[in-house]
Amino acid sequence: GFAPASRISAIGVSEILKIGARAQAMKRDGKPVIILGAGEPDFDTPDHIKDAASEAIRSGKTKYTALDGTPELKQAIREKFIRENRVSYELDEITVATGAKQILFNAMMATLNQGDEVIIPTPYWTSYSDIVQIAEGRPVLVACQAEAGFRLTAEQLEAAITPKTRWVMLNSPSNPSGAAYSAADYRPLLEVLLRHPHVWLLVDDMYEHIVYDDFAFVTPAAIEPRLKDRTLTVNGVSKAYAMTGWRIGYAGGPRALIKAMAVVQSQATSCPSSISQAAAAAALNGPQDFLKERTASFQHRRDLVVAGLNAIEGLDCRVPEGAFYTYSGCAGMLGKTTPSGRRIDTDTDFCAYLLDDAHVAVVPGSAFGLSPFFRISYATSEAELAVALERIAKACAALR
Ligand code: PLP
Repeated sequence: GFAPASRISAIGVSEILKIGARAQAMKRDGKPVIILGAGEPDFDTPDHIKDAASEAIRSGKTKYTALDGTPELKQAIREKFIRENRVSYELDEITVATGAKQILFNAMMATLNQGDEVIIPTPYWTSYSDIVQIAEGRPVLVACQAEAGFRLTAEQLEAAITPKTRWVMLNSPSNPSGAAYSAADYRPLLEVLLRHPHVWLLVDDMYEHIVYDDFAFVTPAAIEPRLKDRTLTVNGVSKAYAMTGWRIGYAGGPRALIKAMAVVQSQATSCPSSISQAAAAAALNGPQDFLKERTASFQHRRDLVVAGLNAIEGLDCRVPEGAFYTYSGCAGMLGKTTPSGRRIDTDTDFCAYLLDDAHVAVVPGSAFGLSPFFRISYATSEAELAVALERIAKACAALR
């Protein structure tokens, strides 16, 4: 019979995909399911970006490109980092891959030896720990509670570092919590890292453009230049430009690391799509004003969802600084019984109940390493969000 390699046998099918598949199946059976699980904007890719892709096809940019990004795209990324983040990377300190996910994968495959530790604050984006495990590293999960703003503290970081620590992975604004680190929030963590020169910092800035209430986004390489030579600054076009399907992510970092990541990529994909790279360059070089409008629309929805959830007895939702997710505590629902007599013991049970009885698909905190919580992605219409909130409220009120 078939047996998977040990490096992947520990990795289950993602909870998010499982719930998504069940929700889709229910929808096909005619159930009016509202899916608040997807991690992608409901907007379309802007036309000027699509036009750049069409032009790339017509002008014959249809061949393999340079291994880790075309010079044109790397130049656009270099300018983006200077313009928006006040960090200067040379072209050979920049790498492009098939999504930020592959950037993370390349980085871990290029740097981890068996048993090397990677500190990951929870709740975390599910792929972090799985990618570390595929690369035969050891995820060291550190629970960051809602009371601490779902942010890692300097004390927690200090306590988690061992001689085997290779990386700490931070994500601001965060998927799934929406929490973000200000310069003042980052400072104490960077001080800790300055004292531990063997620890490298990976920051995932995917949601930098989706921040609310005048939150000032910053990236660590700009705050602390002394850490720049061991920081990998990860970003991408998926979320900001509604380009999830184009599959382009990128990073800036020290030359030797970037080179090692290219070795991984050279035997995995050879290069990212030539057409998508042309589109991504147009996204970064083109007008940026629509980002503000879209963020304003996301903020409106955030306010709607947070207010709706906090009006429900037994739920507790912290106001997120960014991204398009809420991460609500549901401790008040545990121990209760559903109308059909099932007991709710975990956030997974709670989410199963919401799907089965309220026909709303959300993702349990267990998928992100911190329970009891559930994540809502509010990148969907306000009308649909309002119906979903009503259904959740009704389902919660029906628990005994
Ligand atoms: N990082 C975070 C925090 C994400 O939420 C995602 C997507 O869900 C990614 C990275 C990966 O994005 P992509 O591979 O589409 O560039």
